[in-house]
Amino acid sequence: MRKTKIIATVGPSLEDYETMKKVFTHANIARFNFSHGTNQERERWLKMLREVEQDLNKPITALADTKGPEVRTQNSEPLPVEKGKEYPISYLQPAPLDAFLSVVEEGDIVLVDDGKVIFIYKDGKLKAYNSGIIKPRKSIIIRGKDYPLPSITPQDKEDIAFINKAGFDVIAQSFVRSPQDVKEMKSLTSLPVIAKIETATSLEHLPQIVEISDGVMVARGDLALSVPEEEMPLIQKKTIFLAKHYNKPVIVATQMLSSMVESPFPRRSEIMDIFTAVSHMADALMLSEETAIGKYPVEAVSVMSKVAQKAEQEHHFYRPPEADYKDKLAKSAIELAQTFNVPIVAPTGYGTTPKKLSRQHPTQPVYAITPNKSIIPYLNLFYAIYPVEMSYEPVFQNFERIKNHLNIDKALFVFGYPPNNQNTNTLIFI
Ligand code: PGA
Ligand code: MN
Repeated sequence: MRKTKIIATVGPSLEDYETMKKVFTHANIARFNFSHGTNQERERWLKMLREVEQDLNKPITALADTKGPEVRTQNSEPLPVEKGKEYPISYLQPAPLDAFLSVVEEGDIVLVDDGKVIFIYKDGKLKAYNSGIIKPRKSIIIRGKDYPLPSITPQDKEDIAFINKAGFDVIAQSFVRSPQDVKEMKSLTSLPVIAKIETATSLEHLPQIVEISDGVMVARGDLALSVPEEEMPLIQKKTIFLAKHYNKPVIVATQMLSSMVESPFPRRSEIMDIFTAVSHMADALMLSEETAIGKYPVEAVSVMSKVAQKAEQEHHFYRPPEADYKDKLAKSAIELAQTFNVPIVAPTGYGTTPKKLSRQHPTQPVYAITPNKSIIPYLNLFYAIYPVEMSYEPVFQNFERIKNHLNIDKALFVFGYPPNNQNTNTLIFI
C-alpha cells in the first residue's frame, strides 16, 4: 500500500467521469486552482468528485487553492517579444499597475509566465532578454521582491466566501509572507489552512509560518522565481524538516512530471525528483497541469504512484524527532508492527495518535478509525494515514468488529485511554 499521498489538480482534462475516477483511484486529494476557471465549473467538478468518492469508497480531500496577490499582464491577445528590444511598461499592461511601479527598480529582472519571457528593467523601459510570445493574462514576477498588495485580495475574499460554503475540506493560501497572513486567513475560514511557501519573505519566518498553519506546500513554481535557483533543494529539505518538527503535513508541488503534459512517458530527472521528495519525507506530492490540462492525466498519476511507493523503501534512513512519550510510544509501535508485519489501527477522536504515527514515517499503513467525520479530510493529507469512518467505543469490546470492517486478521492497535483525552498510551496486538 502506498503511503505517500498524491494531490491531483482538477481541470478540463478530468471533465470525463471515467477519467476522473481513474485518476482518483491513485490520488487522495483533489486540488481546485482558483487562479483559473469559474465557480460554475468548480461546482460541477466538485459534485462529480463526490460521486467518484462514493464510487471508489475512499475519502478524497477537496483542497481549494486561492489565487493570492499576483500581478498579471492584461493582454487578451498573444504579445510578441523580440530579444534585445526595449518595451514601455504599458506594453505588458501589468495589473495592478501601482503594485508593479512601486517596487520595480533599475536593474531588476522581470519574469513573465514562469520565466518564459524575461526582461531587465533599465531607464524606465523593459529590455527583452529573450524572444517569445506572452499568452493572455500571464503572471509577472520581479525577482526577489514582493508586491505591496494585501496578502488576501478582494478577489480572494470573494473566493473564500464561496469556498466556505461550496463543500471544500482544506484551503491553500498562496504567496504567504508572514505568520500574520495565515492568521488573517484563519479569521476568514474554519477550514485547515495550508501555507504555500513561494515568496522570499516567507523564508524569513519559516518556523513561525509552519507552526501557525495546518500544513505547508513547497510551491516550487513561484518559489524558483523568487529565490536563486540553487537555493531550491535546501529550501525543500528545510521546509519538510520543519513540518515534521511541528507535525504538520507537507506537500511538494510543481513540475514533478511536467513532461507528461505532452508525453505518455516521464523524463528521467522527473522520476528522480519524485524519489527525492519522498526520501526527504514529504507527506504528499502534487500534480498541477499534468492532471488539469495534460494529455495523459491517468498515466501521470500512475507513474507518480509507482515511483513514490518504491521510494518509500528508503525511509529507514530517516531519524524522526522524538518530542515526548507519545512520540516514543508511536516509534515503538511502528517497530513492533513492522516486526509482526501487521497494519496499525489507530482509533481516534481528534487525530492525535495518527498524527504522531505519521510523523515517524511508518513502514506499515495506519488505519485511523474515527466516528468524527469532520477530521477525515485533514487526516487524509498525512503520510501513511488511511482514515476510515466508524464508531468504535468502547474500544476494548470492538477490536474484532474493527478488524472485520477493515478485512484484516491481525493488527497492532494504538490509541489513548481513556478515550478523547488526546493521549497515546496503549498498544494492543490482537
Ligand atoms: P500555483 O502554486 O500553481 O498556484 O502557482 C504552486 C507553485 O507556485 O509552485
Ligand atoms: Mn504559485
